[in-house]
Parts: sequence; C-alpha cells; structure tokens
Amino acid sequence: MTTTFADLTTMRVGGPVGRLDVATSTPHAVELIRNADATGEPLLVMGGGSNLVVGDVGWDGSVVKMGSAEFVIDGELVTAAAGMEWDTLVSAVVADGLSGIETLSGIPGSVGGTPVQNVGAYGTLTSDVLESITVFDRSAGTIERWLPEQCGFGSHRQSVFKHSDRWIVLDVTFRLRRTAQSVPITFAQVAERLQIEVGGTAAPADVREAIIAQRRDRKMVLDEHDHDTWSVGSFFINPVLAEVPRRALDCPSLPDIKGTKLHAAWLIDQAGFGPGYGLDWGNGSVALSSRHALAVTNRGGATTADVMKFAAHIRDGVAARFDIRLNPECHLVNCSY
Ligand SMILES: Cc1cc2nc3c(=O)[nH]c(=O)nc-3n(C[C@H](O)[C@H](O)[C@H](O)COP(=O)(O)OP(=O)(O)OC[C@H]3O[C@@H](n4cnc5c(N)ncnc54)[C@H](O)[C@@H]3O)c2cc1C
Repeated sequence: MTTTFADLTTMRVGGPVGRLDVATSTPHAVELIRNADATGEPLLVMGGGSNLVVGDVGWDGSVVKMGSAEFVIDGELVTAAAGMEWDTLVSAVVADGLSGIETLSGIPGSVGGTPVQNVGAYGTLTSDVLESITVFDRSAGTIERWLPEQCGFGSHRQSVFKHSDRWIVLDVTFRLRRTAQSVPITFAQVAERLQIEVGGTAAPADVREAIIAQRRDRKMVLDEHDHDTWSVGSFFINPVLAEVPRRALDCPSLPDIKGTKLHAAWLIDQAGFGPGYGLDWGNGSVALSSRHALAVTNRGGATTADVMKFAAHIRDGVAARFDIRLNPECHLVNCSY
C-alpha cells in the first residue's frame, strides 16, 4: 500500500510519498541523503511530521525520515540523534536528574526538528540550552559541528534550517544543569498547578507533569482520538512587524529583534474567529481547535486543499480587520498559501 503524508504527519493530510526511507542511524541518514543527492532526486528530510503540511499531490521524490534514537548523557551535556522523539528525550533527562528542558515537555516531533524553528514553550527556547549541532551540508558534502551562533536564531521561530534544505541536523547537544530545581516558572497557570509563585522553581519531574497537564487542557498533546490535536500545533506564526498598524495597537505584544511581535491568537479571535470556528464553514472538515486559536485542526477526512482554503479564510479575515498578514509557522510543501 502506498504511504501518504496523511500517514506521516500529525495534521494527517497530504498525498503519496514517492519513496520513503527511514534512517536507522546517523551514518545511515548521511548515506541515504548522499545517495538521493547523487541521483538528483528531489529530497525531503523529515522527523515526526508535526510541523509539516504536504499537498494532496504528495512528493514525487525521496523522503528520508530521521529515525535513529540514540542518546548519550555525559555529565550535564546530552547528545541525541536527530531522529529521537523529543519528548522521550525530555523524559529521560528529567529522570536522570537534569534540569533545563522540562518546560518543553509534551511537544511532538523529533530532536532534529527542535533547532529548525527554535522550538519553544512556557519560557524556554531550544537556543537557551543548545550547546552545538552536528550538521550535514548537502552542498559541500561535509559533516560539521556548529555552535548556536551559526544557526541564525534571533527573531521569533527562525533559524537557517527553516529557510533552506541545505543543512540537515544529524544530532543535537544540549547543556543542562544537574540540579533538583527546575528553570523558573514564568507562566501563571503552570505556577498555580505547582502551587508556587510565578518566577519560582520546583522539582523538574513535577514541572514536567504540570506542563503536560497544562498542554492537555490546551489540546496540545497528541491524541489520536481527539481531533483538536490533529494539527501542526500553531499553524500561524506570531507576526513580527517593524510598525504596528493603528488598528492593531491594542494587540498584546512583545519586543523582537526585528520589531514588535504580536499575539496572533488575539488577532484571530478579534477578527471573529473564536475557538472551534469552522465547523459550520466550508465542508466542516477543518476548524480551529476548541482550545487554541492558532491551531488549525483536521476534524477527520480533510484534504490539504481543505486545510489551505480554511487557513486562507482566516488569513484574509485578519487582514481585512487589522491590515496584518498572518503567515504559516509550519513548513508547507507542494501547497500554496
Ligand atoms: C500538538 C502540537 C503541539 C506543538 N507544540 C509546539 C510548541 O509548544 N512549541 C513549538 O515550538 N512547536 C510546537 N509544535 C510544532 C512541532 O512539534 C515542532 O516544530 C517540532 O519540533 C517539529 O519537529 P518534527 O520532527 O515533527 O519536524 P517535521 O514536521 O518532520 O519537519 C518540520 C520541518 O523541519 C525539517 N526537518 C525535520 N527534521 C530535520 C532535520 N533533522 N534536519 C533538517 N531539517 C529537518 C523538515 O524538512 C521540515 O521543513 C507542536 C505541534 C503539534 C502537532
């Protein structure tokens, strides 16, 4: 039976995969990528498919799914292969007595996916704990060790990996802390769950539990029985603008190195798209999550065309109300927005 991207991605849409190979080790990944590049075949490298939407036409080429799952803990340094499931790593390091990534618990996807959009949640960014990355340069054919400064982090959810398929992440090393205290908890709802003050700390294992409970409430933990979680997480990225239009001056915002980062969920809600919006729109196969305004969700049987039509409808509604264009946070392949 032909594998489709609906089988491989958390949004569960997308057409057939030309040829699928699962890399079972880092050398195997390099071999598969080198072979595909040598034949000139189009190549798509993926991890857990949790930030990827592929068109209904699929991908007429090679797909390498990073599947190797080795990791090594050396004191406070943790190195994990790109294909390792991110949350399995978080669970392992918390159990080992390390602190630093417990607030990133419950995020789907692979270790290799984390630097791609500098994954972040509840006050921690990948770049906060990143020591180095092993990268395969497809143009030069070389394997290199990169420091965080080389990765192009800075503006919200950006990196050099996000804008080019030249560099493949092979493994990632994180610098954590061997301590019984978590990172400071800056989110009021999580602090409340832990019964601590905002800015306080707790045992990393307790923080992990609280974060997962909080994410479950927000439908941000994958659950095959719950359509609110059939998504890519946030479909839309918080817009960063050099100048905020007058109509959007009330929008909650934060400074960003490229200007002002606006709260896309607020813009969507204020443009008239409340939680769960969409069930009565179009053919009802795509709607906003009932708990998370940025999450476009597949209600079952959606196609990529349905997803893109719905996303464009939200984008256009926000543009009409605020004169701001929302862009996708996820990676779109063979589909237009
Ligand atoms: C329910 C849900 C909740 C989420 N919550 C969050 C959140 O709180 N914070 C957050 O930041 N994100 C969140 N996300 C988004 C997503 O989980 C992350 O972006 C994740 O890191 C993507 O990893 P992946 O392995 O699934 O990448 P994929 O979806 O497989 O790929 C995404 C992109 O990364 C590229 N890529 C993947 N692996 C590599 C590699 N080894 N080398 C080079 N490029 C690679 C792919 O080519 C593609 O362009 C959420 C998603 C879902 C579904």
